[in-house]
Amino acid sequence: MNIRENFISQLVKAKISSPRLETDIIIKHSMPNYPDFNDDELIKAKIMLERRLNNEPLDKIIGKREFYKYEFKVNSYVLTPRPDTEILVESALEIINKNSASTILDLGTGSGCIVLSILKDCPNTKALAIDISKEALEIAKKNAISLEVDDRVEFLQGSWSDIDFATKKYDIIVSNPPYIPTKEIDTLTKEVKEYDPLLALDGGADGLECYRQIAKISYNLLKKDGYILLEVGY
Ligand code: GLN
Repeated sequence: MNIRENFISQLVKAKISSPRLETDIIIKHSMPNYPDFNDDELIKAKIMLERRLNNEPLDKIIGKREFYKYEFKVNSYVLTPRPDTEILVESALEIINKNSASTILDLGTGSGCIVLSILKDCPNTKALAIDISKEALEIAKKNAISLEVDDRVEFLQGSWSDIDFATKKYDIIVSNPPYIPTKEIDTLTKEVKEYDPLLALDGGADGLECYRQIAKISYNLLKKDGYILLEVGY
C-alpha cells in the first residue's frame, strides 16, 4: 500500500468525511512533489494526518480556509469561517450597491472573513473591526494585508460593551456573534467544541446574550436608515 492509500484507509477507519480529498490536501501541503518526497516531508505529512485523526479540522491544520471568493489564514484563535456566513457578505454587498453605503462596523471580527470580503469587493468602503481576542485580531490583520485592504480597515481590541468607540456612526453593522447556548456546547462535534475558540461559540445561557448587547450599543452606532446584518443560530 502506498502512502496515499495508507492515509486514505486511516481516515476511512476514523470516519473522517472526505478521506480522499483530505488525503490529497495533506499531501499537497506536506509533500508537494509526491510521489517524490524526503524524510522531513513524510514526517510533516504524518503529523498532519495524526492531527486530522484527532478530529482537528483540516483548515486549522493547513492554516487557511476558503471563504466567499477569498482565502483566509486561520488558527486555533479564530472561528473557522463557515459557508453559511457568506450570506452576510452577499447581503451587505446588495445594500452597498443600492445605497452606496460606505462605512461598516464588524463586531467580533475573528479571522475578519466577513468585513474583509466586503472591503475587497467594494473599493469605496471603509471599516472598523473589533474583537475581544488579541490573537484573533493578529490573524485578521494578516488577512487584511494579504487581501490588500489594510489601508481601509481599522482594528480595535476590546469588548463591545466597554470600549468607547461610539464616536462615529456606521452605514452597516455586521456580526456573526457567538450564539450557542452554554449548555449546548458540550453536544457539538469534537471538531467544533475542541478546535473553535469557546469565546467565538458561547452565546450565554439562552444563546442570545450578544444580540442583546448589540441591540443596545447599535442605537449609538448606526446611521439613520442604516442596516444591521446578523447571523443567527437557527
Ligand atoms: N466574524 C467571524 C466569522 O464569522 C467570527 C465570528 C465569531 O467568532 N463568532 O467567522
